[in-house]
Amino acid sequence: MSTKLNWIDEELEGLKDSGLYNRIRTLSSPQGAWLVVDGKRVLNFCSNNYLGLANHPKLVQAAKDAMDQFGVGPGAVRTIAGTMNLHLELEKRIAAFKGVESTITFQSGFTANLGTIPALVGKEDLIFSDELNHASIIDGCRLSGAKVVRYAHADPASLEAMIRENEGQYRRGLIVTDGVFSMDGDYPPLDKIAEIAEAYDLMLMVDDAHGEGVLGKGGRGIVDHFDLHGRVDVEVGTFSKAFGVMGGVVAGDARIIEWLHQRGRPFLFSSAVTVPDVAATIAAIDLLEESTELVDRLWSNAEMFKNGMKQLGFDTGKSMTPITPVMLGEAKLAREFSRRLYEEGVFAMALGFPTVPRGLARIRVMISAAQTPEDLEESLAAFAKVGQELGVIA
Ligand SMILES: *Cc1c(COP(=O)(O)O)cnc(C)c1O
Repeated sequence: MSTKLNWIDEELEGLKDSGLYNRIRTLSSPQGAWLVVDGKRVLNFCSNNYLGLANHPKLVQAAKDAMDQFGVGPGAVRTIAGTMNLHLELEKRIAAFKGVESTITFQSGFTANLGTIPALVGKEDLIFSDELNHASIIDGCRLSGAKVVRYAHADPASLEAMIRENEGQYRRGLIVTDGVFSMDGDYPPLDKIAEIAEAYDLMLMVDDAHGEGVLGKGGRGIVDHFDLHGRVDVEVGTFSKAFGVMGGVVAGDARIIEWLHQRGRPFLFSSAVTVPDVAATIAAIDLLEESTELVDRLWSNAEMFKNGMKQLGFDTGKSMTPITPVMLGEAKLAREFSRRLYEEGVFAMALGFPTVPRGLARIRVMISAAQTPEDLEESLAAFAKVGQELGVIA
């Protein structure tokens, strides 16, 4: 009998022994404040559906209408026969929403990073990357072949020291950072980072996957939050989080977008986003431009939940956004906490090493505009009960 795949069994056993094996839960309901997860109805604190748009009737209707007119699939990559006027409309609308010269869409935020970073830098170049950047930035950096220097998380002084250390040793330089860091819910001082980028004439890229639809005026993102319009060269974003759909976007200087039309490999060699995705995303932009109501509710929900947790005696870490980590310390405690919450009807993810550093295990609570005050009260009661039971709070 063949043994060539036995290594997989061994690797999987290893993952299970060390508690790193992914067990994937299944939803049998739409996204929303409540989910049916593995057959049980629970309050949802796991999704990136910040504004509750993933099952919004206007997005669903827009997708249906567009499918009646254009069908489902784009049928080709964008550069051959896959660019429909819907794609161009989306690119124009998101550019206007974000206040940038130009945008280009990708299949996802992940492929946007994989396409953009290697188009901007190569073997002779240097990337200054925040040490906690997202996996898709890390992979994009590796693909580029550029030398990568990691600076201390969200620390402009560390960034500047690294730049000085490497001065004169590269052709082009790129600074890249997440907008909002999804494990802690914090964001970097992007104004300080932009000043450094200008002082040393380096390109600046921010991946605002968790900031779009959340930070800035009416959810226009971290660049708007810091009023840095025109001073950040490249903004990567995703339509899979606050926008409730799927797809990636790169926004910024028109020359960069033009260059990505020529050199963004996932744009050139992977098919365009589907018709319903594009139409639903345009409908999401309509909603965001009409009113700030959903973004405002997201933030008031976050404030209510965080205040409630602090009053109960929980530590919500460095959170500056609706992403609320509940710091617990040991991974085993975090897992047990998450399991007990689920029994109490609250679905919130435990994160441990290596997703977060050792000793900093936590429950991560994702707040959404879809949650009602009653939902939040109910979840606070569950946190109080489990927290007392496990000795986390008095
Ligand atoms: C989620 C995320 C992505 C990936 O976005 P998708 O559109 O889901 O592929 C990229 N970057 C960051 C920082 C993210 O949080």
